[in-house]
Amino acid sequence: MVNAIVTGAAGRMGGKIISLISDTEGIELVGAVERKGHPLIGKDVGEFLGLGATGVLLEDDLSKCAEAGDVVIDFTHRDVVMDTIRIAAEKEWAIVVGTTGLTSEETAEIGGIVQGTRCVLAPNMSVGVNVMLKVLDTVAAILGDQYDVEIVEAHHNLKKDAPSGTAIKMAQVIADSLGRNLEDVGIYGRKGMIGERPGEEIAIQAVRAGDIVGDHTVIFGGVGERLEIIHRAHSRDNFAKGALRAALWIVDQEKGLYDMQDVLGLRNI
Ligand code: NAD
Repeated sequence: MVNAIVTGAAGRMGGKIISLISDTEGIELVGAVERKGHPLIGKDVGEFLGLGATGVLLEDDLSKCAEAGDVVIDFTHRDVVMDTIRIAAEKEWAIVVGTTGLTSEETAEIGGIVQGTRCVLAPNMSVGVNVMLKVLDTVAAILGDQYDVEIVEAHHNLKKDAPSGTAIKMAQVIADSLGRNLEDVGIYGRKGMIGERPGEEIAIQAVRAGDIVGDHTVIFGGVGERLEIIHRAHSRDNFAKGALRAALWIVDQEKGLYDMQDVLGLRNI
């Protein structure tokens, strides 16, 4: 049995993950954490999520959580996640990080902190998106420099970071495949007399509207044709399922930093 602690337990993703844990064999909730001052602190997590009493009360401090934890699952906020990772590493709990909005410096720092434990870090836990990342790597390599690359992402109006971590990851995969440095060629929105589009640009546009769960379209625009590769998330269930798959996988791995390509066995395909 894998003992899981969920941070951001009263959030959109945290709630989905706890509900899914209650329906999944081989994994059990032993701790749930929210921000200090959250109105549900001290309440039974199962009760406020409509699952019935679980005996797990919502805590406001991860370090107070059960010593019996095997894995922490974090979908919170970029200001919070570094502390979560430090505490998990100290306690040698494995950790699954779905939180997005991390800078490249923070991502590099995580690589250092988690050397003492095992961590899956992925801005998108869906199987479809991770297959798409694999496809993008191949398509970019085949099409090469003759096709303009534009990424359009759309999310709900409550999303805090832009562009999405998934869109940045897609841009990074394409940049690596084309031998470009994303720091130099990444463009985030356009306005004014910007002149002709330089061929090496990799552009990301972010749309925020209503309750869109998450759409990502990558356009490879050539002369006389364009190729579009699209992923649309219909609900958050696919992210929660991916997070649980990662949690069950990571506890048996060697110490180190992994992503969903490793979890899904896509790395060497
Ligand atoms: P949300 O705002 O609904 O939930 C975040 C929760 O974290 C909130 O309940 C908040 O109170 C809580 N929180 C804040 N500070 C905390 C602290 N110190 N300790 C514990 N909890 C704290 O947001 P969401 O839609 O659930 O998304 C959360 C994160 O996950 C975002 O970064 C989002 O972009 C990301 N996300 C990733 C994936 C993926 O597949 N990797 C999918 C969806 C969302």
